[in-house]
Amino acid sequence: VVETGTPDRAVVTTCAYCGVGCTFRAEMRGEELVRMVPWKEGKANRGHSCVKGRFAWGYARHRDRILNPMIRASVSEPWREVSWGEAIAHTASEFRRIQAKYGTRSIGGITSSRCTNEETFLVQKLIRQGFGNNNVDTCARVCHSPTGYGLSKTFGTSAGTQDFDSVMKADVILVIGANPTDGHPVFASRMKKRLRQGAKLIVIDPRRTDLVKSPHVQAEHHLPLRPGTNVAMLTALAHVVVTEKLYDEAFIRARCDWDEFQDWADFVSEPARSPEAIEPLTGVRADEVRAAARLYATGGNGAIYYGLGVTEHSQGSSTVMAIANLAMATGNVGREGVGVNPLRGQNNVQGACDMGSFPHEFSGYRHVSDDATRGLFERAWGVRLDPEPGLRIPNMLDAATDGRFKGIFIQGEDILQSDPNTHHVAAGLAAMECVVVQDLFLNETANYAHIFLPGSTFLEKDGTFTNAERRIQMVRKVMAPLNGYADWEIVQLVANAMGLNWTYDHPSQIMDEIAALTPTFAGVNYDRLEAEGSLQWPANEAAPAGTPTMHIDGFVRGKGKFVVTGYVPTDEKTGPRFPLLLTTGRILSQYNVGAQTRRTGNTAWHPEDRLEIHPSDAENRGLKDGDWVTLRSRAGETTLRALITERVAPGVVYTTFHHPETQANVITTDFSDWATNCPEYKVTAVQVSASNGP
Ligand code: SF4
Repeated sequence: VVETGTPDRAVVTTCAYCGVGCTFRAEMRGEELVRMVPWKEGKANRGHSCVKGRFAWGYARHRDRILNPMIRASVSEPWREVSWGEAIAHTASEFRRIQAKYGTRSIGGITSSRCTNEETFLVQKLIRQGFGNNNVDTCARVCHSPTGYGLSKTFGTSAGTQDFDSVMKADVILVIGANPTDGHPVFASRMKKRLRQGAKLIVIDPRRTDLVKSPHVQAEHHLPLRPGTNVAMLTALAHVVVTEKLYDEAFIRARCDWDEFQDWADFVSEPARSPEAIEPLTGVRADEVRAAARLYATGGNGAIYYGLGVTEHSQGSSTVMAIANLAMATGNVGREGVGVNPLRGQNNVQGACDMGSFPHEFSGYRHVSDDATRGLFERAWGVRLDPEPGLRIPNMLDAATDGRFKGIFIQGEDILQSDPNTHHVAAGLAAMECVVVQDLFLNETANYAHIFLPGSTFLEKDGTFTNAERRIQMVRKVMAPLNGYADWEIVQLVANAMGLNWTYDHPSQIMDEIAALTPTFAGVNYDRLEAEGSLQWPANEAAPAGTPTMHIDGFVRGKGKFVVTGYVPTDEKTGPRFPLLLTTGRILSQYNVGAQTRRTGNTAWHPEDRLEIHPSDAENRGLKDGDWVTLRSRAGETTLRALITERVAPGVVYTTFHHPETQANVITTDFSDWATNCPEYKVTAVQVSASNGP
């Protein structure tokens, strides 16, 4: 879809920041992007946008971009610019050398939720077909992997149940562990519109986010629970639903396993799980919890939206399943206005998960040990594939420090800055013989790299992203890649240098392969995407027009599964030395570790990360607003300025993590979700003391 006119041409493409997936007209003058204008036809945004998609694209031409490949023999040596030919040949020869010396499973790779579906598919294919193992993981490991586990177990697939428009049919909106006003602003606007029309809002969050109270919106109930107690809170809500007989028996009998429901109901109805019993643990008044449970269960269509405040915990997967249990018990699945909806962080985190980026799954969430699925890929790719699941990111790093893992290909992720316990990540990377980083900038991880392959921005390539509502949308090249190649072409060069014979001329051919090998994508192709604008998977013979609402007639797994999710306290404890709990989040103008937004004018809106601290905790430490403080945990310490506010409760502190100077992950711990290893970013015991500054 190319429009002509202002200024001399315009191309419709998709924002590369968050999982809302706003579409824009990129208005061009020659090869220069003049402005991004939100596109009225975009089904995810309908002409709206936020300050990131609208203004924060200048990083594409930033002087920090690396445009030529570089190599070095060791990380103590300076980089040496080389030709693409030399860089690709060196990459392939290093990976082959390492495998010959240490074995097939001694190397692996990481896909990026920033890249397109097609690029992600190719990286996992390179690893499975070319490396001969399943050592592939993705940055979703550190954000929504518990969503994958939890929703697959309960509903049968790893995806939100609704499209964004569904919120306009909700009567009660329950937001837990998410701050959509900052994290998903365009969707938050739609949610607020519905709230202004009279829908009721429940917010479960340790912090008083803007959604709790703003000029036009006020939550009916804000449950400011102590960080780390999500499962106890959700179980208490379920306790009220069961003991007050507010559950939807007809739905449960028709759609779920009644015996499993009864086991779960027996568990949650025990007195120890009542709102009164857990009040000392969560710090939330029992009568508020009871009132919120009654509202969600009886207030009409109940829709749940959640974010990383749910998943990035040692009980992240349990929390996702507890949410699914609550929705099934109240009959809030399978129609418009209800459902369970993860608000995905990155632009293509849904797509990265869909494309087989996990070490145990092919595209479409099919286990690598399944003979029929593996056979399908073996016939298509002409090789025998490894039936053993591979290593997750933290396991790759562990194996590296043990000497068993020696080489890694990292596309579009700065694991040194974004993964927990920076010291552990650094030790793992330092122990490898070949670290290949493909990125736009020399990021922190590149300090440990031996080969740097320049990446391309979303403006420089064709492909697709899949947003949080499973909507597949086109990404269109608006300018030639400054480095000479789109990322999918670079992966193809590496694959062929390793002896494969890939012949893709365009990403549409990669999508055709995805569709042929992935039942939920069987009806997806570029002709349809061009004609229809977008498609929501599953889009196949059973659902030719795509699927805005999932699980209408039955769950993907058949019967919905109730899973008993007991509350298990995190091992991260407060005590006399570390008396406060730190939790983290994002702000509207910045994005994640800031690699892109800090290289745009958006930095003026948020020039530094601050530590939010309650006035009573600040007074106890003799702190004034703006003072420098040292933030120390059992893992490490950092320095930043204090922001004294009642947004956080006494005993809780909060910071964003957009600036590398903050080094927030120096202080986060090694604790992680029991099922998926998703790091426990949201709970760290800390001490805060006055400081003279960095
Ligand atoms: Fe981009 Fe998300 Fe903002 Fe939309 S809401 S413009 S997708 S960052």
